[in-house]
Amino acid sequence: MSKTENSSGFSRRGFLTAGAGAVAVTAMGGWTPVHALPLRAAGSLDSGSAGGGPTLPAPPDFPTDIDLAQQAYQNWSKEIMLDSVWTATPKNSGDVVRLTNWAHSVGYTLRPRGAMHGWTPLTVVNGASVDKVILVDTTVHLNGVVVNGAGSPATVTAGPGATLDAITTALQDKGLGWANLPAPGVLTIAGCLAVDAHGAALPADGQSTQPGHTYGSLSNLITSLTAVVWNGTAYAERSFSRNDPKIKPLLTNLGRTFITSVTLQAGPNFRMRCQSYTDIKWQDMFAPKGASGRTFESYVKANGGVEAIWYPFTEKPWLKVWSVAPTKPASSKEVTGPYNYPFSDNLPEAVTDLLGQMNSGAPGIAPLFGKTMYTTTVAGLAATNATDIWGWSKDIQFYIKATTLRLTEGGGAVITSRENIGQVIHDFAVWFNERIEFYKSKGQYPLNGPVEIRCCGLDQQADVKVPTAGAPTISAMRPRPDHPEWDTAIWLNVLGVPGTPGMFAFYREMEQWMRSHYTGDAYTFRPEWSKGWAFGPELPYTDGAIISGALPQSYRDGLPGGDNWDTAVAAFNEFDPHKVYSNSFMDQLLP
Ligand SMILES: Cc1cc2nc3c(=O)[nH]c(=O)nc-3n(C[C@H](O)[C@H](O)[C@H](O)COP(=O)(O)OP(=O)(O)OC[C@H]3O[C@@H](n4cnc5c(N)ncnc54)[C@H](O)[C@@H]3O)c2cc1C
Repeated sequence: MSKTENSSGFSRRGFLTAGAGAVAVTAMGGWTPVHALPLRAAGSLDSGSAGGGPTLPAPPDFPTDIDLAQQAYQNWSKEIMLDSVWTATPKNSGDVVRLTNWAHSVGYTLRPRGAMHGWTPLTVVNGASVDKVILVDTTVHLNGVVVNGAGSPATVTAGPGATLDAITTALQDKGLGWANLPAPGVLTIAGCLAVDAHGAALPADGQSTQPGHTYGSLSNLITSLTAVVWNGTAYAERSFSRNDPKIKPLLTNLGRTFITSVTLQAGPNFRMRCQSYTDIKWQDMFAPKGASGRTFESYVKANGGVEAIWYPFTEKPWLKVWSVAPTKPASSKEVTGPYNYPFSDNLPEAVTDLLGQMNSGAPGIAPLFGKTMYTTTVAGLAATNATDIWGWSKDIQFYIKATTLRLTEGGGAVITSRENIGQVIHDFAVWFNERIEFYKSKGQYPLNGPVEIRCCGLDQQADVKVPTAGAPTISAMRPRPDHPEWDTAIWLNVLGVPGTPGMFAFYREMEQWMRSHYTGDAYTFRPEWSKGWAFGPELPYTDGAIISGALPQSYRDGLPGGDNWDTAVAAFNEFDPHKVYSNSFMDQLLP
């Protein structure tokens, strides 16, 4: 948050005065854009015009047939909010090319925009001027989905703004699916590919990866893509197939390019089961490697995918256990659509009331908040008969809706071998518990959201069923050739209520601990691109030593010199030498 902003992280002034009724206040005290203010709707196109006109300078010579409007922007946690930014809505990829050449000619930058369900400054930077920035909304028109079920492998070709919901629904209609899906289906495919999105999927012991699937990132499913790149004289569309080494940096690209179309492989759809447990003490669940009992590790071995949600200051995390189940187990409830935990997507008033109190100067409510979240979960699972559900892969894997709590999130990925899952989680849980109890003893509650622990596989070359040049260059799930035994990514995340005093300092302490602890011959640590990282004492994404040092180094260590962080940066600059697709933060991260 910049020093000039208020405690909720934004100023409403500009947009509210620009268009009465342009925002709707939600139950949580936030707002969502309702009406956009089109470029040519108001009398004056001048900067700061009074009387309801646009508040930003009108972009010069903007292509007349591409829709452009001033709109609000907000990221997921509402920690990056802009009252008003020019937002274009191209009708096709040709419009994106024209926009890019226009932006280049007048010194503007473009930021591709999907569902805005993220935390990072990879779209817009809090506090930075947006006078010469155009967001490009891909969700309205660039959202086509075509499945080629007869291909070998079967594929789906999607526009960048197609949602995971839309793509997996189309795949399911043809008997196809994906084994490793992020939790919300509302995300756009290009937004996901920018940050190597993933789910909580692993094979059980002895289970093989079915052809067409991957337990790594969605980026590892790409067979080809089209992006807008500089061809020496102008920006133009160019297609890359997976066996072209040049595609590798584009597979996970942090938004430093503009994808206009992508084709991804898919595998046969399958039935899954998800069982929930809320009766295992965290000390047992997160016991060290090799411990007996109902450990996280044991559930992975027997079933595959596992996620623990550990509410603050509670004893028993909510454990979800996913398994492949071709026929419905007698005790399971069949579900025919996704989002089967409505109690966590639509929180009762008791929970949101506590949130409000924490935000308004009573951070000590955190333990009560944690307990209330836990009891809400236990009661919700029982009331909806959702402790054991069974259905198609997407219906079991998607479980977060946009109505869930808008929390901030930080952490990262430990890359290691499967046999270390228990130890990694144990070390973190013990450290985390000790630290929050320490702060509690001082009357401080810097962290008040749940811990979220998941695992998935890596971007294995063997999973790709077309000729391939290899894994995405800067995916956190990229395998390390010097450690072929590393096959697992363990995602350690903690959530918090935006605005909590001391929260980012705590995240910083946690990140530093993870970086120093998960190192050596057994582990390496990488950021989760979509979440919080490079925590400074007061804000995320501000630790220059991590942004320019440790983080790039994590994509040099153990990787070939001709295919690492530096070659990715060089490729982004080759494809976009004029930095049309960048912003001030990306200029620092990817110079
Ligand atoms: C509640 C919640 C739960 C989540 N759960 C998961 C999860 O389970 N697993 C997981 O991996 N992630 C998860 N995420 C993170 C999510 O995957 C990322 O934030 C993702 O980038 C969001 O996609 P989006 O459509 O909202 O993209 P946006 O936030 O709009 O954009 C994200 C980035 O993608 C870039 N981008 C968008 N379109 C293009 C394009 N056409 N070409 C190039 N770059 C483009 C943007 O410029 C930006 O840099 C979650 C996020 C939230 C809020």
